[in-house]
Amino acid sequence: MKSGTAPRVMIIGLDGADWPLLRVLFADGAMPTLKSFVEGSTSAPMESVLPTNSMSAWTSLMTGVNPGKHSVFDFVRRTRTPFRTFVTNSSVIRFPTIWETLSSNGLSSCVIDMPPLYPPFRINGVMLGGIGAVTKARRAYSWPVEAAEEVERAVGEFLPDVPWVGKAGRQVELVTDLISLVENRQRVAEVLLDGRPVDLFCMVFVAPDRIQHVFYQDLTEQGPQYPLARRFYTALDEALARLLERVDLTTTDVLIVSDHGFRRFSTTFDVNQFLVEAGLMRWRWENPPVAKGLRLAKRVFKPLSGQIDKVLERPRLRPRRQLLPESVAYSDIADSVNVNLAGRETTGRVPQARFDEVRDMVAARLLEFRDPETGDPVIRRLIKREDYFGGQYAGEAPDLVLECHDGYAYNRFLGKLTFRWTYCQGVHSLHGIIAALGPHFRRNTEAPLVSILQVAPTVFSLLGVAPPEGTDGRVAEELLVGPTAPTSGPPTPPPERREEPGTYSEEEEELVRKRLQGLGYID
Ligand SMILES: [Zn+2]
Repeated sequence: MKSGTAPRVMIIGLDGADWPLLRVLFADGAMPTLKSFVEGSTSAPMESVLPTNSMSAWTSLMTGVNPGKHSVFDFVRRTRTPFRTFVTNSSVIRFPTIWETLSSNGLSSCVIDMPPLYPPFRINGVMLGGIGAVTKARRAYSWPVEAAEEVERAVGEFLPDVPWVGKAGRQVELVTDLISLVENRQRVAEVLLDGRPVDLFCMVFVAPDRIQHVFYQDLTEQGPQYPLARRFYTALDEALARLLERVDLTTTDVLIVSDHGFRRFSTTFDVNQFLVEAGLMRWRWENPPVAKGLRLAKRVFKPLSGQIDKVLERPRLRPRRQLLPESVAYSDIADSVNVNLAGRETTGRVPQARFDEVRDMVAARLLEFRDPETGDPVIRRLIKREDYFGGQYAGEAPDLVLECHDGYAYNRFLGKLTFRWTYCQGVHSLHGIIAALGPHFRRNTEAPLVSILQVAPTVFSLLGVAPPEGTDGRVAEELLVGPTAPTSGPPTPPPERREEPGTYSEEEEELVRKRLQGLGYID
């Protein structure tokens, strides 16, 4: 315990953690540190946001607003042209994050890789952005760069993530890699915790999400791969023990949170394939105009064909999926369906006056769909944009967000209506966790459902800072011992970001896309 430099508030993120899984691991003695933390704390299930993915969920946690206000809906962002997406990065977070609000109130923070924090913001303190970081060479993942130097001197390197897609048959290697990722994150956190006093310290272990995609059913049902996957959680528990011993829980408030939970699944449902087979969508591969010209040039200038082929390999010159104008609907970000609307989509032909009718028809057709093998319904519900999202950027949300029944998960462009997986066993669900222990929190108690939008306002109340105007969540009073100190200070103005979506260079965008494909997040 180093109370001299201990933060006043600490947030430890466990990406994808949920109570059904933790209860199994607690009963089995796999996570003694987390178990005793939770038992001493006030804990609750925590409701995430739609669409339920790490990007939209962590952004809601760090802002306290629904995605209609912060504008992050998925790992990729839509444009007016269907299927032409850009990788999400921090420059599109349109609402002040916790750390920016604290900075403008003169308080300091240290934050390690809460997605999507690349490029890092110039906050009062330290920020490392992991998942979207394109290069370590310039230490561009770190604000300030000296923090990266300090980390690299002590730990060797900062590991952002480990790909899990395509490791079927190599599960032992995957678990070993993910344990290394946890240990690296813990050591990075130790370096930054010990070095400087800050008001708020935040870090996320992203690895639980990766392991649960592969092993969730075996973990919760103690299936054949349980002993292997359990090893990961004992390592995670040791990492938590190392971090928690650095704070004094009588003076520091610690929140252990996840961005969403998990559920088991075995079958994916390809929404675009469904729309094609239902006669509601048509698409084709299309070469960008420059590529067409180059292909023509190749035939004319044969000696140059080798060089031209090289140019044609560039990401922006490769064939792309193009939606054809006769399409009624399509899907290009996770769990979404959009109407191909005239005046909005560049390919749009559905007149505005028919929007409601067409969207209802598409939703009804999707709800009718049955798994051809089992006859079971696949779609549980479809939520209309205006029924869920609110705020300045709600117009960027999908027209419909789709939720699958248990056992099923969303997919697109797999080319098969349904596909049974053997490698993957888990997919995101709406309910994650919160457990809070420290001087301001109730002890040994369970609270009812908390919203992920309440984390930021609760942290502000612990630190005596007013939340930004327009914050959706309210303080989670049900977790707290008593009313917190009155907040003060001016509301934080909307952030001015330095970059815009799509400002990765061509090569950088490709690199990040490849990484996200390895994490199963984009096609
Ligand atoms: Zn996540």
